[in-house]
Amino acid sequence: MSRIEILGLTQQFKGHRAVDDVDLVIEDGDFVVLLGPSGCGKTTLLRMIAGLLEPTSGRILIDGQDVTALPSKKRNLAMVFQSYALYPHLSVAKNLAFPLAVLRTPRDERDRRVREVAATLGLEKLLHRKPRELSGGQRQRVAVGRALVRQPSAYLMDEPLSNLDAKLRTATRQELSELHDRLAATFVYVTHDQVEAMTMATKIVVLDAGRIEQAGTPEEIYHRPASVFVAGFVGAPPMNLVPGVVGSIGGVVVSTAPGIEARLWEGEVENREVVIGVRPEHLRAADFATGALRVEGLVERIENLGSENVVYVRVGDTLLTARGDGLGGIRRGEPIALGAALERIHLFDRTTGRRLE
Ligand code: ATP
Repeated sequence: MSRIEILGLTQQFKGHRAVDDVDLVIEDGDFVVLLGPSGCGKTTLLRMIAGLLEPTSGRILIDGQDVTALPSKKRNLAMVFQSYALYPHLSVAKNLAFPLAVLRTPRDERDRRVREVAATLGLEKLLHRKPRELSGGQRQRVAVGRALVRQPSAYLMDEPLSNLDAKLRTATRQELSELHDRLAATFVYVTHDQVEAMTMATKIVVLDAGRIEQAGTPEEIYHRPASVFVAGFVGAPPMNLVPGVVGSIGGVVVSTAPGIEARLWEGEVENREVVIGVRPEHLRAADFATGALRVEGLVERIENLGSENVVYVRVGDTLLTARGDGLGGIRRGEPIALGAALERIHLFDRTTGRRLE
């Protein structure tokens, strides 16, 4: 298995830097998810690791060996892409066995591996079919299976679940996680789906405009987002982000929006424009009296999700979101008072967007 080291990696397309000076270490056995909005450079970064795209500058090391100039097939990586290219004239079994046939693996071992992978991905009954006789989701599972039959240095996957329906996506997600636990293999996985990132990753790398915004465990990314961008991108519904300024009263941070009051600390960060962040689940009626952040507004909309309500609260020009099971009995148009405890509040510099300690 493999440790992948990325040093100053850059990909420039006609003056536009799709990947911009990225440094990243993927440890042996990591499940790294490259997460970010469309166009942020996830696929480009993965394609460079795969050896399908030559970097403009920078280096890639696999287990200490510089592979930057090495062609894809010599890197011993298994790849699954969104556009799963299956061989149309071969059965599912032969498609799955193909990478082993190329490696001249003995037939009985080949058959055994194909059976194992087919069982893992629920493809046993489809082994004799041709790709055109499969649904999109089934084809995608064959593409995943084809990567799994080998024992490569690392698995590289680009949105491999994007064509699956919600149920199958959840099931396949769990299968991939279990597989990762079992193989203790290195995975690099591209997605813009934060649920996939949060549930499968040992490390999430959030990208924006070709640069790493933050790399950390799912817990770090969720609970200590390093920037306004990460705070707003990870979490659904997204974190409430309200502009604020450091007030004149001894460094107390006061929100600019009337009806939102924040008293975060005294001292240090004076005369600074900030962004105050609080996640919807941390805005609670119970914290109004004692919270460091206090909000008084009107209930504009309520979404009942069964297990909990999502409540949209209008405070002047600002629309805040609260969610939780303690928000029953609330009516549209009525006043509401919510608060958040100090430890639930995130603070960012408004100019740089970076987190303040
Ligand atoms: P998505 O989630 O939409 O797949 P992504 O994060 O994977 O997006 P990339 O496909 O890596 O993004 O693209 C990053 C940027 O580079 C985009 O602005 C894209 O338009 C540009 N780009 C990608 N490939 C090329 C190319 N071959 N030539 C020119 N520009 C490209």
